[in-house]
Amino acid sequence: MTEEDKLVLTALSEARLGTSGWWRGECPFCEDRVGTADKHGAFGVRAANGVFHCFRCGIVGRLREVPDTHWREPKETDEPDAVIEPPGSFLPLAEEPAASALIARPAHQYLARRSVTRTTIAEVGIGFCPSGFYSDRIVVPVASVDGDAWVGWVSRAWVKCEQPYLYPKGMKRTILFNHAAILKESDDPILVVEGVFDALPYWPDAVACLGKPTQLQMVALASARRPVVMALDGDAWEEGWALAQQLRFAGTRAGNVRLPPCLDPNDVDPSWLRSEARACLN
Ligand SMILES: [Zn+2]
Repeated sequence: MTEEDKLVLTALSEARLGTSGWWRGECPFCEDRVGTADKHGAFGVRAANGVFHCFRCGIVGRLREVPDTHWREPKETDEPDAVIEPPGSFLPLAEEPAASALIARPAHQYLARRSVTRTTIAEVGIGFCPSGFYSDRIVVPVASVDGDAWVGWVSRAWVKCEQPYLYPKGMKRTILFNHAAILKESDDPILVVEGVFDALPYWPDAVACLGKPTQLQMVALASARRPVVMALDGDAWEEGWALAQQLRFAGTRAGNVRLPPCLDPNDVDPSWLRSEARACLN
């Protein structure tokens, strides 16, 4: 047995079965390859053929022998994400009084300018804060995978200010905005974008990473039950291309759309991006 195989088998003794037949655990190679240890389970081994791969340090390989004694029973569920309360004065914009109140008009106008429809406002549960620390801000909830709770939110000021985006304390980027969409079985691609306002015009067919994708988000995307198309901001198309390659390696149908330089998914014609997303999978 090679040294590499031994390391993989040790990692496997702590691994858990994820979806699509990959065992997930902490990477035994990260420390050597990137200088720090993996703490988020970026490493995966495919039970069927022993192929292994890490989203963090990029190692790719294959076990010479695939033992069945190392596979452990999966745990019932993963740790749930911490529930995060909406900001104090939050009012949902699809419900009265905020649906028609004068004070909510700038919020509705801002959302209309960013191509967010009334249906999307209602389905996502977008609201605003009329008073308090987050006043004059749109608030977009980030729902748990089952949709029952808030695990975070993004606030966006509609007036000019130093920090247009504010997030709540304690919010983790373990799941994606609209995470449930990747678990929906479909032939229609799911778009992976950076900002929540990049995702909203494509609702419900886009997820947002709230920045560049994290390793945990990549692990989740590798388990998508539908094709995945990376549509990162125009300046990050090379990263998007590399991430799509990694997803394909992990057995996910994936592609990448190159946006024009300096443009985000929110700046381009949604029908253009949707058709590019389908085309890049062929
Ligand atoms: Zn690694």
